[in-house]
Amino acid sequence: MHSNHYDIIIVGQGVCGTVLSSALILQGQKVLVIDDGSNKAASKIASGVINPVTGRRIVKTWQIDTVMPSAVRIYQELEKKLGTRIIKQCNIINFHASEQMQKAFEDRIAEDSTYLSRQPLPNTIAAAFEAPFGHTVIDPCWLIHLENLLHDWRQYLIEKNALLQDVFDFKKLDNKADQIIYDKYTANKIVFCEGAKGEDNPYFKQLPFAPNKGEALLVKIAGLDNSYIYKKAVSIVPWKDAVFWVGSNYEWNNNNDDPSLAFKEKTTAALNEWLQLPYQVVDHIAAVRPANIQRRPFVGMHPTFKNMGIFNGMGTKGCSLAPYFAEQMTEHILHQTPIDNEATIDRFHILA
Ligand SMILES: Cc1cc2nc3c(=O)[nH]c(=O)nc-3n(C[C@H](O)[C@H](O)[C@H](O)COP(=O)(O)OP(=O)(O)OC[C@H]3O[C@@H](n4cnc5c(N)ncnc54)[C@H](O)[C@@H]3O)c2cc1C
Repeated sequence: MHSNHYDIIIVGQGVCGTVLSSALILQGQKVLVIDDGSNKAASKIASGVINPVTGRRIVKTWQIDTVMPSAVRIYQELEKKLGTRIIKQCNIINFHASEQMQKAFEDRIAEDSTYLSRQPLPNTIAAAFEAPFGHTVIDPCWLIHLENLLHDWRQYLIEKNALLQDVFDFKKLDNKADQIIYDKYTANKIVFCEGAKGEDNPYFKQLPFAPNKGEALLVKIAGLDNSYIYKKAVSIVPWKDAVFWVGSNYEWNNNNDDPSLAFKEKTTAALNEWLQLPYQVVDHIAAVRPANIQRRPFVGMHPTFKNMGIFNGMGTKGCSLAPYFAEQMTEHILHQTPIDNEATIDRFHILA
């Protein structure tokens, strides 16, 4: 076969393109990943937390009992393959914002304590926060080192001649019934993992993307234990050495990825009220999450252009959802096995 021929072209190397290309390569597929290297990818701004519970009623997140074990296994396998740190257990100390929330957590523990525990705080942590309503530990939570994952996987692809750093240009795409032709490359199939940019994809723009902007401050906090994540009005997440990621907000239908003064002011006000240690803001970052109102992924092949697929729509939960659904998408591509009813794009009516 010609050296410019691939089984699958993947567009985008955020967390989705990374875990999908990895799953396909593990199944012996020859893959070319095309990515522009943008620093505004959601995966480069995300804190990388896998938190199994959500909301005021502290319910389990969608499919967490299935997707979390898969995510842990897949990131640990990648960690071994790449020889870099990618995943660590990092539980959340959830400080209750009110008496009401304290009671909600106590009621939830009495009813079902899965993923929750009442561990006492080490003195240094108790002294670092103003916490009149107590805390609950969310256990286990996981932290994905996205910078290492994306960088080291990219290096791996480069060494295998499987990475093209470029902006994918639809004008260079010719999708014949039996073959994809892109510039000087040919492939059996193409799968788009473009994150929020997927909204502009001419083949999949009918999917109900609802971009969701999020921001974070990178904050140096000397003396804060970086083996936990701390959560109240904002989350404080270990980032690098004494630097912590502090965020975030959720702005629906906002495609602007510039940091805003309003976010900075609101977040520093929340820190001033809560954190008892001195801190210094060293950076302010923002990106658009590839979300949708249903809060479910977009996974599958196009109903008309059957050699074109999408792996996107992970919203606020790319780190937990992408590894499990990458394996499902891989099986679907190779063996036509079904995709989860709530994640498949077959739930939408996509016209040619
Ligand atoms: C502030 C913030 C905090 C977050 N925190 C978490 C968290 O703690 N845990 C969690 O699970 N999720 C979190 N998320 C959500 C998470 O970031 C997303 O679910 C996930 O990163 C989406 O990954 P993706 O690969 O689909 O998209 P992206 O990361 O956006 O990757 C898409 C890639 O495709 C490339 N691309 C797009 N179009 C083209 C083109 N035409 N040509 C070439 N390349 C192209 C982009 O440059 C990019 O590299 C957070 C998001 C934000 C913004």
